Amino acid sequence: MLYAADKQITLIADDLLRIAKGEVLSDDWSRQVYSVDASHYEVMPSVVVQPKDAHDVSEVCRYASAKNMSVTARGAGTGLLGQSLSDGIVVDFTKHMNRVIEIGDRYVIVEPGMVKAVLDKELKKHGKFLPVDPASSNYCTIGGMIANNSSGVHCLGYGNTVDFLQDANVVFADGATDGRPKFSRLHSLLESHAGFLEKYPKVSKNSCGYRLDSVQDGNAKVFAASEGTLGLVTSARFRILDLPEYRSLVIFGFENLISAAAAVPRMLKFSPVALEMLDSSVFSKQEGCMIFAEFAGEKIQASMDGCIQSMTGKATVIESASDESGLTKIWAARKSALGSIMKMTVGSRKPIGLIEDTVVNPAVLSEHVENLLAAYRDYKLDYMMYGHVGDGNLHTRPMIDTASKEQTDMMDRLARQVFARVVKSGGTITGEHGDGLGRLKFIEMVYGKQVTSLFKQVKEIFDPGYILNPGKKVPLAKK
Ligand SMILES: Cc1cc2nc3c(=O)[nH]c(=O)nc-3n(C[C@H](O)[C@H](O)[C@H](O)COP(=O)(O)OP(=O)(O)OC[C@H]3O[C@@H](n4cnc5c(N)ncnc54)[C@H](O)[C@@H]3O)c2cc1C
Repeated sequence: MLYAADKQITLIADDLLRIAKGEVLSDDWSRQVYSVDASHYEVMPSVVVQPKDAHDVSEVCRYASAKNMSVTARGAGTGLLGQSLSDGIVVDFTKHMNRVIEIGDRYVIVEPGMVKAVLDKELKKHGKFLPVDPASSNYCTIGGMIANNSSGVHCLGYGNTVDFLQDANVVFADGATDGRPKFSRLHSLLESHAGFLEKYPKVSKNSCGYRLDSVQDGNAKVFAASEGTLGLVTSARFRILDLPEYRSLVIFGFENLISAAAAVPRMLKFSPVALEMLDSSVFSKQEGCMIFAEFAGEKIQASMDGCIQSMTGKATVIESASDESGLTKIWAARKSALGSIMKMTVGSRKPIGLIEDTVVNPAVLSEHVENLLAAYRDYKLDYMMYGHVGDGNLHTRPMIDTASKEQTDMMDRLARQVFARVVKSGGTITGEHGDGLGRLKFIEMVYGKQVTSLFKQVKEIFDPGYILNPGKKVPLAKK
């Protein structure tokens, strides 16, 4: 016998099957699969649609809008804050909308469900690359990268997703695809709120709130970091670069975390394209702390030699590589850092990621590290620490017993304490992983009341019915 809720789901699935050419999944098993991502959250969707094309996406949105149901885009589900989880209709772009549409000399146009590593292979055939390289690139999709404003190891030298995104085709909440009236309202709104830019963090990467500070460089940039709350991207155009002819990498060994963090500003003078730190808390077999520094371009030897010399007496050179296979092997070890950390879970004791993604100016990074270590000592917490230190973007996770209310409350207090300090220094609470379910309540700490209320107005221009991924970026609308 079908219960009322099951009957409702069957009705919705039948309707969607009639209007979309792609698959519609409403069985318990499929819904269970889509109820989780790489975060600690779990939300069961009603129905999952795998659209064949942009027209399917439009039809789904039109239907959802008429029925007042939510629509949430999903890529590979590697988001770390529950971004793709929702109890409404989930739209999975990976099955059909996953192709390269066009590769030009300076740009690529791609569908959102394409996995980044697959795009990398295609671009490499043309001697090109899209430098944004999240450690999850073997799985994560272009759509997810846009919506989180993803970055990665090489963003220090080249920039983040928002910097490469040039244009996007988008389906809006009501199924429409013409964004001109919305953008015209957005620009009028921003003009009447002069001064909002001052509230933006003064750092090189930021995935907190909406990236209204980028809209002046192109309308599509408003979708970067928007977590699918303003529109569903059905294709996107990115700037691409020539693959560098020469690359070299040096691994420096430091006595401890603080001495490594303190060396970052000096190393930055030699313009590395990547500067990554791995503490012994991640790879316990190693002593001390390592920094991986990669250099590219024509002055590579001079930069490398200069950097090595500047570290005399501060660090030892553990290893270096200038060949493609050596570099790939070393970066693969760095890429596995978060995977290794997640394996440290024992029962309900888990490395929790709430404060894992702060960004500060590299000049104050060592102070930030010292403060974090002091907080972990005070709270008696084990931790792991690593990250994109060249950008001042630190990944850290304390071990928390998620079955203990006392410990989860403590995590909240610790996050608030750390975020307050980061914001005071001009930093942001998330450089690349986004806000999702976990950090929505902290966005106001970064931007203050006026700019968070501006975010609400932006949401209402693009999605007045709060249909798209509700409860992310701005609080749910009051009924
Ligand atoms: C082991 C591991 C390592 C990671 N390392 C990094 C790293 O180095 N750097 C980094 O930046 N991130 C990293 N991440 C975080 C995450 O992988 C990235 O943010 C990734 O880009 C998310 O892509 P996805 O396809 O999995 O998106 P999902 O998790 O499926 O979705 C993320 C968001 O994108 C939205 N979305 C998806 N498709 C669309 C679309 N077509 N239109 C509109 N919105 C859409 C979803 O609604 C959701 O809000 C890591 C995650 C893991 C698990």
